[in-house]
Amino acid sequence: MCGIVGFAGKKEALPILLDGLERLEYRGYDSAGVAVVSSDGDLQVKKSKGRLAVLREILDTQKPLSGNIGIGHTRWATHGGVTDANAHPHTSGKVTLIHNGIIENYISLKKKMIDKGYQFVSETDTEVLAHLLDYYYKGNPLEAITKVLHRVEGSYALGVLSADEPDTLYCMRKDSPLVIGLGDGEQFIASDIPALIAHTREVELLDDREIAVLKGDTVAIFDHYGSERPLHPIHVDWDVEAAEKGGYDRDELHALCRKIVAAGCVLLKNEDNVLPITKEKYKKIAVIGEYGKNPLSYGQEADVNTLSAGLFAALRELDDPSIHQVYARCPVGGGVAYAVQNRLKKAAAFHIVDAEEEV
Ligand code: GLU
Repeated sequence: MCGIVGFAGKKEALPILLDGLERLEYRGYDSAGVAVVSSDGDLQVKKSKGRLAVLREILDTQKPLSGNIGIGHTRWATHGGVTDANAHPHTSGKVTLIHNGIIENYISLKKKMIDKGYQFVSETDTEVLAHLLDYYYKGNPLEAITKVLHRVEGSYALGVLSADEPDTLYCMRKDSPLVIGLGDGEQFIASDIPALIAHTREVELLDDREIAVLKGDTVAIFDHYGSERPLHPIHVDWDVEAAEKGGYDRDELHALCRKIVAAGCVLLKNEDNVLPITKEKYKKIAVIGEYGKNPLSYGQEADVNTLSAGLFAALRELDDPSIHQVYARCPVGGGVAYAVQNRLKKAAAFHIVDAEEEV
């Protein structure tokens, strides 16, 4: 897991980005970075291994990054160690980007980009995306992004900025969470809803392979062939505290997730344990919906993503029409965004008032 945020509007972007990253802190991370573009196209990037506090300290000692558009990232390393160079954003030419996910065919793409003369400064899978974008960019960013997405295999939630377009933020996703917050003259992106709702409660969900183009006053969404679609915002009425992690730290989340996975096994054997969830109860209940590819392996030691994906797969087996819950609170995996993003038709609820209590 990692955290992604982005802002386009009239305010200074940096404080909004840092605040958003802080709200996603529960997702865990090993490095943090931000990029801000000034109105005259000055692309400023700052990143560091360590927690967000380390990045904040570095930023405090330097001339502030100034601009009304920016992206921020907290990394959970999958490819390449925890170093400054591997931290996001990754930049090539005039383009910089942040990424949550894994580019599965990055080795072959990297070889091709090296043959074309690109120099890699990180060990990440992500950097290949920045070079591909630079390579395909011939004045039309949307066209370049579309070409890149057709070439990559794997999962991604991406935020992209270009020094050539100091008023535009691009984002896109496939199999990684990303939501758009629609504000008044300002727009936001984030990995999860808690990072948005201090600013807006109107949220647009992106489908797999969709691309969003955000300017302060407008949001346009395209499929990966370039066809635009209308917006379908949803209104989020959770309170901020409830939508955040609910007081769990990273270790507790892992423990909780294992417990929920175990409950998933029980659940498959005993459907009486499945509860229709009500809004009043949601603070006390984790809801996990149908999603995921990985087979569930009972007692599996794995990271939170794998565990929750396994549980999602198990829950797909359930078929109870009385359970259809969109307002879902899931403290694992992609969190609220996962559950909502996948427009759950059915979901299972687990009573988790007390992590020690048997489910
Ligand atoms: N695969 C990328 C990396 O290792 C992104 C990891 C993440 O989602 O934080 O840098």
